[in-house]
Amino acid sequence: MDGTQQVVIIGGGLAGAKTAEALRDHGFTGTVTLIAAEAHLPYERPPMSKSFLIGASPFDDALVHTAEWYREKEIDLRTGTRAIALDTGRHRVGLEDGDEVAYDKLVLATGSTPRRLPVPGAEASGVHYLRTREDSDAIRSTFGPGRRLVVIGGGWIGLEVAAAARGAGTEVCVVEAADLPLSAALGPELAVVFADLHRANGVDLRLSTRLNAVLTDGGRAVGVELDGGERIDADGIVVGIGAVPQTGLAEAAGLAVDDGVLVDASLRTSDPDVYAVGDIANHDHPALGRRMRVEHWAAALNQPSVAAAALLGGAERYTELPYFYSDQYDLGMEYIGHSPEGSYDRIVVRGALAAQKFVAFWLDRDNRIKAAMNVNVWDVVDQIKHLIGDGRPIDPERLADPGVPYAEL
Ligand SMILES: Cc1cc2nc3c(=O)[nH]c(=O)nc-3n(C[C@H](O)[C@H](O)[C@H](O)COP(=O)(O)OP(=O)(O)OC[C@H]3O[C@@H](n4cnc5c(N)ncnc54)[C@H](O)[C@@H]3O)c2cc1C
Repeated sequence: MDGTQQVVIIGGGLAGAKTAEALRDHGFTGTVTLIAAEAHLPYERPPMSKSFLIGASPFDDALVHTAEWYREKEIDLRTGTRAIALDTGRHRVGLEDGDEVAYDKLVLATGSTPRRLPVPGAEASGVHYLRTREDSDAIRSTFGPGRRLVVIGGGWIGLEVAAAARGAGTEVCVVEAADLPLSAALGPELAVVFADLHRANGVDLRLSTRLNAVLTDGGRAVGVELDGGERIDADGIVVGIGAVPQTGLAEAAGLAVDDGVLVDASLRTSDPDVYAVGDIANHDHPALGRRMRVEHWAAALNQPSVAAAALLGGAERYTELPYFYSDQYDLGMEYIGHSPEGSYDRIVVRGALAAQKFVAFWLDRDNRIKAAMNVNVWDVVDQIKHLIGDGRPIDPERLADPGVPYAEL
């Protein structure tokens, strides 16, 4: 690729903005066009359910880069512009405003959209989803003493919203279909920590409970009806039942898509001139030996450097382990690796679950660490990453003993 060539990036979230940055960092001097449907400069979403949601940090703190940065780096950033067509044969992207942009290489970074609630009444006003700055603003406006929020879904987003709402004095009820929140991600042994945390902070946690309907009055949501028939009044409803990758353009263009856009180890799609990064990339992970689509901040942050290098002719592969973090009340956690419910043999805990200060390790039957979560314990991720990457069996008793330094394991 030389200075006469053009790279187009579709999607102005973290992954799109980081791709633009990586192309310049890797020395690409050609045209970089970043097509971004939202009206804002690219921003990070984690604050939308944390500091920005509680009003503790301004929106600008969430920006990936300032407007000046895009100018300096000569990135043609087109905010408020949606790509609506992709012609991989002609190497052209069609925009909603009728314009067409030619590319030599294309990067898809279209992210995810919240899964919609499939019950009667769900389209009423006052039913909120959380993805954008506007969503976060709207949800914040439902908070306050004397108000009641019903959160549908006890996943990461639902629980972070619950914590933010409780912090603002809102009464909160969380409705979760499974018998524990986060149990699919963490398994029951650790999910119970989060159930206890929210109960201790005054959340009315309704587990093994589904929703019959959203109750409405004049087109406005006023509560929910649970599967047992009970009705709960609400001033606002927040739905956090997962996200769906935005693969419409890729599918219409005939790229291989199966729960995300299929990409190889270098994040290249089934079309050699098209790459995909972030939430939409279903990646053939060389270190894990399996496909994986990671809907987390770290993948959107780190995949772009590899995709940009590969697109410019390098042989880089993305080998980072999945990583994410969450903050709820005074609990901060990080999780590294991959070991969902049903895939591990045992859990070893270093520290005290009840004190909410510990590191939990998910082990397979050969005592190899598959994943770990540090809760209110900091600066251990690099050492844990080493242990997971090492792949050798570990003595569970020494692993559980805080007196044994990680380096000696
Ligand atoms: C509220 C919230 C809190 C989160 N908190 C955490 C956290 O604490 N820790 C963590 O690890 N992860 C967290 N995540 C997940 C993390 O934010 C995502 O994994 C990350 O945003 C993915 O980045 P992305 O760039 O791939 O996609 P997105 O951030 O979704 O960005 C995609 C962008 O592309 C645009 N777009 C889509 N289609 C088109 C088109 N056709 N034309 C032009 N533009 C288009 C979209 O409008 C969007 O702006 C959170 C997510 C949310 C929503």
